[in-house]
Parts: sequence; structure tokens; C-alpha cells
Amino acid sequence: MIGIFGGTFDPIHYGHLRIALDIKERLGLSEIRFIPLNNAVHRHQPQSTAAQRLAMVKAAIADQPGFSVDERELTRTGGSYTVDTLTSLREELGDHPLCLLLGSDAFNGFLNWHRPMDILKQAHLMVMARPGETYSDDPHLQALLKERHSAEIAPLHQQPGGLIYFQTVTQLDISSTRIRQSVANGESVSYLLPLKVEALIKQEGLYTSSISNGKDESTA
Ligand code: ATP
Repeated sequence: MIGIFGGTFDPIHYGHLRIALDIKERLGLSEIRFIPLNNAVHRHQPQSTAAQRLAMVKAAIADQPGFSVDERELTRTGGSYTVDTLTSLREELGDHPLCLLLGSDAFNGFLNWHRPMDILKQAHLMVMARPGETYSDDPHLQALLKERHSAEIAPLHQQPGGLIYFQTVTQLDISSTRIRQSVANGESVSYLLPLKVEALIKQEGLYTSSISNGKDESTA
């Protein structure tokens, strides 16, 4: 089974890397594919270029067996819909089981995504949970869970997609937003992300101003 981990990765950090490793080991995945998103739907646009974010992901995962990067989103024009990414992956991977890594916030809003049931047809949902966390009581989401939740890992390996599984993962209080702000403030970002990524940020002069979404965050 292959784990699909989409994100802006602006920049990638240890929060991302640690949860990817948790999921890979606990579920016995053969691979985790990091998919940097080009033009994230419903989000502010990345501060660094596609090439810079790709270079940072490549540097971050270079020494980790079973971690790979998939560039298909970065070469696509227009918005990134998860359903389109999965359709394109399916063409390449046939019936191989896939699981889409999702934070619990994302899972709570899953039914508002573009064509959610087509997403679930093509991949399992791997919800990365915090201990003791509660989920939306939306009756539609609850009905979906009743139908699709699997408490066991084995069934996920036996079918291409369609199930929902919850996995507790390590919580590191790190976000790309915080890293960008720290760089803009001239603070160190050591121990929040791999050294090679930190070196790329310095080399490219990334995040030195706190402009995001066309606005200066320091005055927002
Ligand atoms: P930003 O601060 O720019 O919003 P981010 O740090 O949340 O970015 P993304 O690239 O948006 O990074 O992350 C991709 C996915 O990883 C998202 O689903 C996000 O919820 C999850 N994620 C990011 N940081 C962590 C973390 N420290 N622990 C667990 N999940 C995380």
C-alpha cells in the first residue's frame, strides 16, 4: 500500500516528516509519496516557487528509504483537486491499494471537498488523529463512518480504496507558517526542519519578508 501525502510544503518540516514515518511504519506501507501542491484550492498561495518547494522536499527525504516525491501537481495548470490527482495516480498504479493521509480537520470537512465519494472510491482515508480527539457530529459524516470505518489494518491492504482508518501520530507543534514568520523575524529555525532544507532557505533567500496572500502579515 502506498501513502499519498499532499501539502504545500512551504517549507516541509519535521511535523510532516515525523507523521509520514509514523504512518509508514505503523501501517506497513511500501512507500509514502509526498505531493507538493501547485495551486492549492481554498488556501493562500505559496510564498516560494514550485521549483523551490520541490527542491526542499527532495532534500528533506533524500536519506529516508520509502519516501518519494511526486511532481505531477507542479506541472499541472489550474487548481489542484485531490480527485484528479488520484485519478491520474490510478492510471499509473492500477489496483494497488492507496491511502490518502488527512489531518482530522481535513477529515471533518471531507464531505465538502470536490467529489468526495469519488476520492473514497480511489483511495482509503488515513485520518491522522490526536489522542482523545473528537470528530464532527455531522450526521452525513457519521453515516459514512458507520459504513466505511475499519478498525483493522489488514482490510486496507486487501482492496484498492474505500475504507477509513484512524491512526494516532506524533504531535509536533510545528507549522510552515511559524517557520516563515521566524525567518522573516530573523529568528533561527534550527531543529524545526532538516538542516538541508534550512540551508536551501538561506541559499535562496526565502521567507525574508512576511508577505503572504498579497498582504503583509505583520500589519494584518
Ligand atoms: P501552513 O502553516 O502554511 O498552513 P502546514 O505546516 O500546515 O502549512 P501543509 O503543507 O499545509 O503544512 O501541510 C500538509 C498537511 O500536513 C496538512 O494536512 C497539515 O494539516 C499537516 N501538518 C502540517 N504540520 C503538521 C504537524 N506539525 N503535525 C501534524 N500534521 C501536520
